[in-house]
Amino acid sequence: MLPSGPTLRHVLVVGVDGVRFDLLGPDTTPAIWALGRDGFVAPVVIDASTPTMSGPCWATIVTGTGVAGHRITGNDLTGHRLADHPDFVTVATRAGLPTLLAVSGWPPLALPQDGGPMFAEASRREFVAVAENSMAAWDEADESITRLAAGILVTDGPRLSFVYLGAVDAAGHLAGAGDVYRAAALATDRRVGRLLAAVRSRPSFAREGWTVVVVTDHGHLDRGGHGGREAEVATAWVAAAGPGIVPGGPSLVTRQDQVAPLVLAALD
Ligand SMILES: [Zn+2]
Repeated sequence: MLPSGPTLRHVLVVGVDGVRFDLLGPDTTPAIWALGRDGFVAPVVIDASTPTMSGPCWATIVTGTGVAGHRITGNDLTGHRLADHPDFVTVATRAGLPTLLAVSGWPPLALPQDGGPMFAEASRREFVAVAENSMAAWDEADESITRLAAGILVTDGPRLSFVYLGAVDAAGHLAGAGDVYRAAALATDRRVGRLLAAVRSRPSFAREGWTVVVVTDHGHLDRGGHGGREAEVATAWVAAAGPGIVPGGPSLVTRQDQVAPLVLAALD
């Protein structure tokens, strides 16, 4: 049970694709690490019935139901049962809350492509396409969506926002989990920091009861790629802080299907 706050609660969820748990640290991902200090950061082992792919993992994270419910087993979402298991942005939007969906690079999250969109409804929907499958193009798309989302967070302060950044996963596929991958993770962490700074810069921030969640879908092999059950691939993670989350306290999430309930509970 969350303590009641003076005003309406707000939640920002940042989805960072394909960031290995063993990469997190005070130097490698300082903003995410600091968020963990303010609340918790914890590994989340992907359920054995869930392919370690973005489609099924994100679907479980944002709906709170597993593959048996949403029926998404790959990155083509065709045949999904999301109408029976809507994502948390759609649930909040249907409850009348102002929401934001801001996605970089991967169409089926936000657009009617490849069986999408995974997110059915949002008050405001932003998508920045990736011009080509290169690190420069992914970096540019993540940068654009971060700038756009930060501006909306400052001016509008939606009750629930989901911002998706894809450059780290792209780096893993293009170059393996080496220097390029670590550089992409640090750039992504700085973008997470900017989104957090945008929230904290709101004049009404102290009264708004913000919960911030940063979450990944799966990891990567050393050589790049995922889909199997290796520990570095099948270990995802969640970091979160906000009202009702005790700093340094127990992790409130040990499974991917516990993220959506945490998000919706934080909205009170
Ligand atoms: Zn991937």
